[in-house]
Amino acid sequence: MKTTRSAKLFAEAQTLIPGGVNSPVRAFRSVGGQPRFITRAKGSRLYDVDGNRYLDYVLSWGPMILGHAAPAVISAIKKAAGQGTSYGAPTELEVALAKEIRAAVPSMEKIRLVSSGTEAVMSAIRVARAFTKRDGVLKFEGCYHGHSDYLLAKAGSGLATLGIPDSPGVPADFAKHTLTAPYNDIRTVQQLVKEHHRELACIILEPIAGNMGVVPPAPDFLAALRQLTADHDMLLIFDEVISGFRVRYGGAQALYGIQPDLTILGKIIGGGLPVGAYGGRAEIMDLIAPSGPVYQAGTLSGNPLAVTAGLATLKQLRARGVYKELEERSAALARGIGGAAKKAGIPLTQTRVGSMLTAFFTPGPVVDWDTAKRSDTKRYGTFFHLMLEQGVYLAPSQFEAAFLSTAHTSADIDKTIKAAATAFKKL
Ligand code: PMP
Repeated sequence: MKTTRSAKLFAEAQTLIPGGVNSPVRAFRSVGGQPRFITRAKGSRLYDVDGNRYLDYVLSWGPMILGHAAPAVISAIKKAAGQGTSYGAPTELEVALAKEIRAAVPSMEKIRLVSSGTEAVMSAIRVARAFTKRDGVLKFEGCYHGHSDYLLAKAGSGLATLGIPDSPGVPADFAKHTLTAPYNDIRTVQQLVKEHHRELACIILEPIAGNMGVVPPAPDFLAALRQLTADHDMLLIFDEVISGFRVRYGGAQALYGIQPDLTILGKIIGGGLPVGAYGGRAEIMDLIAPSGPVYQAGTLSGNPLAVTAGLATLKQLRARGVYKELEERSAALARGIGGAAKKAGIPLTQTRVGSMLTAFFTPGPVVDWDTAKRSDTKRYGTFFHLMLEQGVYLAPSQFEAAFLSTAHTSADIDKTIKAAATAFKKL
């Protein structure tokens, strides 16, 4: 596979952009090798500057659930662009998107649109703190909630401890407000809440973890968190930036039947353009300016192009049978990969909720960050490159989800399984 143009661009990019990329995982650091520079994408396919074609399971890290350049979305964006790209004034489109989101996710009684998941989480935490008049946040190891200061903290391994910053530049004074517990470990959470409930504003989690690879919630984990937060006047925040409109139209909260106080959305609701959203109980959301004193604003918030792309995407997702088909294709892919790994004697643990899935290179089980970390990441790196050489583009890290779109065909799935079988034999 020819990669000379990508290599040349990457060399130049590194002189201009830190690490040559505008978001770290794109640089292929954890799998080695050099990133491919993409020129265009259509349906399930990505095309790079050297003329290579890849079957894409990254899908811009989740938003492209209809596949790339879905005709209905592109024509809506084109039409909207002709009307101007930003006004800094309210639009009917924003009302339509908020209405659509609330119909799908009824716990989001009021919704504020922003421009990224990071921004949405940061703002949700602020309003949770204002509402509860407490500063503490409890999060889970391996869950990612964007790069705001308070959430770039994790505990040491084993028992949860007071948060220490995960990144230079995050003041220890900020991170100290963040407690961390192992995902799916309700006992530790109960213990932490018992000790700290007077300081804790909220518990925030990905109701289906996607940022340590896919880790589904244990049965009753979400229900137990719901009960615990209600008992102690803390807020429960679901970060559904990945799972929202991905596992079901109403997200993980519809799938598991648990209503959080606040929800974060992003990715799919922007149809591939920059969007984030946070929302929840009206009495909480009404604290936000200008109806209340909690300040939050944005020049491009509710951007007409992004909202248009989101609305066009949601419209397609409402069609009958979309999620059933995604489920069937994803199940077939997981089955095929599992069978091929078994045949080759490769210990693999697969996790999947609908069209988000991960194959961990460990005998498993994988239930939290500690068990996810047991994966053989070197082996994943080799597998990743063997797949890439065969034209299958997986996430350049073991600890990410693979996503399917409605543009992925049965033939795509078959091709992927065949490629995986070849790769497993070479491992
Ligand atoms: N929350 C979750 C669950 C995410 O997966 C991400 C991004 N992958 C974010 C928040 C941050 O979103 P953004 O990258 O749009 O800032």
